[in-house]
Amino acid sequence: MLDTPKTTAPVLILLGPPGAGKGTQARMLEEKFGFVQLSTGDLLRAAVAARTDAGQAAKAVMEAGQLVSDEIVIAILRDRLADNDCAGGVILDGFPRTAVQAQALDALLAETGQKINAALSLEVDDAAMVTRISGRYTCAGCGEGYHDTFKQPKTANTCDGCGGTDMKRRTDDNAETVASRLQAYHAQTAPLIAYYESKGALQGIEAMGDITAIAEKLNTIVQTAVA
Ligand code: ADP
Ligand code: ADP
Ligand code: ZN
Repeated sequence: MLDTPKTTAPVLILLGPPGAGKGTQARMLEEKFGFVQLSTGDLLRAAVAARTDAGQAAKAVMEAGQLVSDEIVIAILRDRLADNDCAGGVILDGFPRTAVQAQALDALLAETGQKINAALSLEVDDAAMVTRISGRYTCAGCGEGYHDTFKQPKTANTCDGCGGTDMKRRTDDNAETVASRLQAYHAQTAPLIAYYESKGALQGIEAMGDITAIAEKLNTIVQTAVA
């Protein structure tokens, strides 16, 4: 059996409740540092759209605002991490979300000799999450995220990035589902903050402010973490 090739490619984790700004900040970090953003939410939505077995199993769970099984999510993440474009470094957006996923990630990285450079925890108020999530929409063409109030495109309904005009909203971005998603976050994901703190990887970022101000704080932290 061949050994798995070793690499020192950086691994960054974005932690935070639904709507905290993980996807928004991950895209900006991707552009600035050239690392690949891996969103398990996006990968699962693609699996649902493609009607794969994993997608069929995940659909109702996602619509209810609960967490998809560790087994499905870990398998999807493991496959995506093995793609060539991830060899220069990755930003994990929305993974891990449970202790089992965090341990699976440690095991996967041990195989390639990689380590977690930083777990970036976006600290936000629960009260703001409903407003952020209910105003969220995304360009269908390039995936750029927008908000009805906080991040509008320069020209209404036209993507700044690709010029596309097909904007979509997620079916799970509604007030009822947000409550379950926040509950799942507090019960299953928030404990990972202590896990990464104990590993010396945690960086807490106050994330209630302006998108660009938060991006600047992250840039400084990431620059040091990957040096
Ligand atoms: P997550 O990936 O954590 O669920 P998103 O990055 O999709 O969160 O952000 C949720 C919504 O809030 C989006 O509509 C986004 O444009 C908006 N948003 C992101 N960061 C901020 C911020 N700092 N202030 C206000 N709105 C924000
Ligand atoms: P948000 O950041 O707004 O919660 P995501 O796109 O990250 O949105 O996730 C959408 C849904 O996909 C989650 O509510 C959950 O059902 C599922 N999901 C995404 N990532 C994971 C994960 N790591 N573990 C379990 N379920 C996940
Ligand atoms: Zn676009």
